[in-house]
Amino acid sequence: MKDLNILAQELENGTTTSQKLVEESLAKIQETSSLNAFVSVLSERALELAKESDKRRAEGKTKSKLDGIPVAVKDNLCLYGTKTTAGSKMLANFEAPYTATALEKLEASGAVIVGKTNMDEFAMGSSNETSFFGPVENPIASDRIPGGSSGGSAVAVASGCVAASLGSDTGGSIRQPAACTGVVGLKPTYGRVSRYGLIAYASSLDQIGPFGTNVKDCAELLSVICGQDPHDNTTSARPTEDFTQKFDEDLSNKIVGVPKEYFASGLDEKCKIAIENMLTKMEQNGAKLREISLPNIGHAVSSYYIIATAEASSNLSRFDGVRYSYRSPEAKNLFDLYAKSRSEGFGKEVQRRILLGSYVLSSGFYDAYYVQAQKVRRLITEDFAKAYETCDVIASPTMPSLPLKRGTGETDPMAMYLSDIYTVSLNLAGLPGISLPCGYVDSLPVGLQLIGKPFEESNLLSIANAVEKLV
Ligand code: GLN
Repeated sequence: MKDLNILAQELENGTTTSQKLVEESLAKIQETSSLNAFVSVLSERALELAKESDKRRAEGKTKSKLDGIPVAVKDNLCLYGTKTTAGSKMLANFEAPYTATALEKLEASGAVIVGKTNMDEFAMGSSNETSFFGPVENPIASDRIPGGSSGGSAVAVASGCVAASLGSDTGGSIRQPAACTGVVGLKPTYGRVSRYGLIAYASSLDQIGPFGTNVKDCAELLSVICGQDPHDNTTSARPTEDFTQKFDEDLSNKIVGVPKEYFASGLDEKCKIAIENMLTKMEQNGAKLREISLPNIGHAVSSYYIIATAEASSNLSRFDGVRYSYRSPEAKNLFDLYAKSRSEGFGKEVQRRILLGSYVLSSGFYDAYYVQAQKVRRLITEDFAKAYETCDVIASPTMPSLPLKRGTGETDPMAMYLSDIYTVSLNLAGLPGISLPCGYVDSLPVGLQLIGKPFEESNLLSIANAVEKLV
């Protein structure tokens, strides 16, 4: 599918209609169904909305640039009256009783949601292999993971089913699948987008963000979904902005921080060369590279997995078999009902995380693990703040290697956790970050991550837009 801005132009010129675009999108979803990117396809609903959009256009009442354009959203975002599973057996039959704020805003812009995308169960994972509905396939290389946990949303864009989509990012789940499938993915600053209606994994880290085939499309989508929300007290009161406002700027005199710790051991040699080539091109085009240091970054993955699992163990306690989630038919008494429903309803990875999270919060270990991890989180946030005294943006790889072979998460969960090394620190510090393709190695895409200052998405996206032109 063409990009969002071209589609908007075509709709405007009258060379296409929303109905045609939605039909085209639904046909493509059908044609690529073996990729398993969608958990549900909302054909009837989408066609109905497309007709309404065409009618609005005919009457001169078009709502926005996005009006009539097909998009997809991750299946942990509630959309009233439709199935919202979070990739879990626990919620396989759950119908959302309300709509997430981000989706409400998306639909208010006239965009047409054609389907809910597949994901790692409860957004836990980096490979999209833990979904109850089966793994998502990478359209670029079927023996490789598409990245996770928002792999379905990334693949929906990469395979041309939709022009853009939404995912969620707790420790890299937008940026990593973007890198693995050769598209652009943006995690906004914590508090930029309301989390109301997002099925929580780790509330202090979760953030909703867009995927697109280019930086501009991500900026357009962010402009639509951001803003303060009375339903989410962590949203910022900053007014919504047009994040494309600085897109005419180039790289001259932009200071790009390059963390020395990110290019030390652990980074695949070929990926390193691809990233360094890109940095050189940025320098040739006016950017100034400056080596920076993030001294505590080596502790990011361990503190992330303590904090994320602690919050997950608490957030997921609501799935008890009593209210709306899966209920075991075998239970003999109340305790049995909790135990059986939770062991049958949650997959292995989710159970592993709940156990780990309950352990680090338990009375004997709380100070040793959870409190300690929170202290490390503070140090990492301060490392970034200090680095930003000397640079405008930070550049790094998105992932330490090319997309992993399928099955790695099953055989070696540690290898999977370690692939989060460059992404989790942004969530710990609440910073915005974008992954954009910066070349191919062995026919597989490599992602460049650009990290911005808090709430400076305009600058971040402007620099990303200039970098994209060099690819
Ligand atoms: N891979 C990380 C995890 O499994 C991040 C997931 C995410 O961002 N949702 O926790």
